[in-house]
Amino acid sequence: MQELSIKGSVSDSTLLVGEDFKNFRKYLPNKQVIVLTDDKVNKLYGEYFNDFPVIEIGQTEKIKNLDTISYILEELLKHKADRSSFLLAVGGGIVCDIAGFAASVFLRGIDFGFISTTLLSQVDASVGGKNGVNFLGFKNMVGVFNQPMFVLCDPNMLQTLDDDDLKCGFAEIVKHTLITDAKMFEYLELNSSKALDIDFEVIEKLVFNSISIKANIVNQDEKEKGERRKLNLGHTFGHAVEKVLGLPHGNAVSIGLVVAAKLSMNKGMLSEADYQRIIKLLSDLNLPTSIESDKDEIIEALEMDKKREGDSIHFVLMEGIGKARIEEISLEELKAVKL
Ligand code: NAD
Repeated sequence: MQELSIKGSVSDSTLLVGEDFKNFRKYLPNKQVIVLTDDKVNKLYGEYFNDFPVIEIGQTEKIKNLDTISYILEELLKHKADRSSFLLAVGGGIVCDIAGFAASVFLRGIDFGFISTTLLSQVDASVGGKNGVNFLGFKNMVGVFNQPMFVLCDPNMLQTLDDDDLKCGFAEIVKHTLITDAKMFEYLELNSSKALDIDFEVIEKLVFNSISIKANIVNQDEKEKGERRKLNLGHTFGHAVEKVLGLPHGNAVSIGLVVAAKLSMNKGMLSEADYQRIIKLLSDLNLPTSIESDKDEIIEALEMDKKREGDSIHFVLMEGIGKARIEEISLEELKAVKL
């Protein structure tokens, strides 16, 4: 088991990677604990938490809204939660985002922690203190910055994940390596098949490194004023692909990474050989590297993207593998990328 800490402006967070989730009681404060989870995770793992009151919510982005927050606040009141209560989220990114928000606004803030159960939430969503819900169709529109007391990541919990959910996590891991860690990229190239088999040691190392990369960036720029924007690598185009083609998030991010790599190559920032390595790694992880459909509709969606300024967009590009740079690129340059 490896430990890491994030210093937040309000509080700090301890990240526990490779810990057996059944040891979670060790990390709980001596307070009333209430568990928040979704119906699928509750079915799979509920027996380990049934000595606590459990608030169960549904799944998918559709329930990530203020109605669900309102339901949770009501349930907290029913369970007689007070300022000294502790909310323990057991689930993926959706449960963790919702739990962090609900805990932060209940009685102006109670302590909370995460047992992070998807690869995406282990390497990304549960790290960094962003907690929010969707509002009027806008993703993560309403929320707070606040750190969980701890985040527990047990690779064994990923054995029960669906393939698409596993892929989402791998796309974010590749993104993290491309932003700052060429060595980790190489490690992933060598160990992609073990990673797909959820080999404990490989996953523990990938999760720990990914979290360290994100934690390091978040420690420098908690509120996304500069450095943290690099974490949007692959996401500017990826979000538009997700919206227009309805692809799962991980697949869309993979396409976004390919577009960013191609643009970087076109600008002479990334060699053809490194571009090919990126394509191969994504394919080895069963992630898509091309799309059939016409790009224009995607670019139209991207034109609406909040990062757009005039006829250009702030885009994260690669200066080789392991270094990212934010550049303004024109929509024309983007249209010229062949997929
Ligand atoms: P999710 O929480 O919906 O989980 C995906 C599915 O996996 C769900 O059906 C869930 O029930 C199931 N599941 C969870 N753990 C499981 C397990 N161990 N075994 C079997 N099934 C399991 O989705 P996600 O991909 O974890 O997270 C996506 C969310 O994370 C999005 O809403 C996104 O906005 C958010 N996110 C937040 C941040 C952040 O910084 N806060 C960063 C990235 C993503």
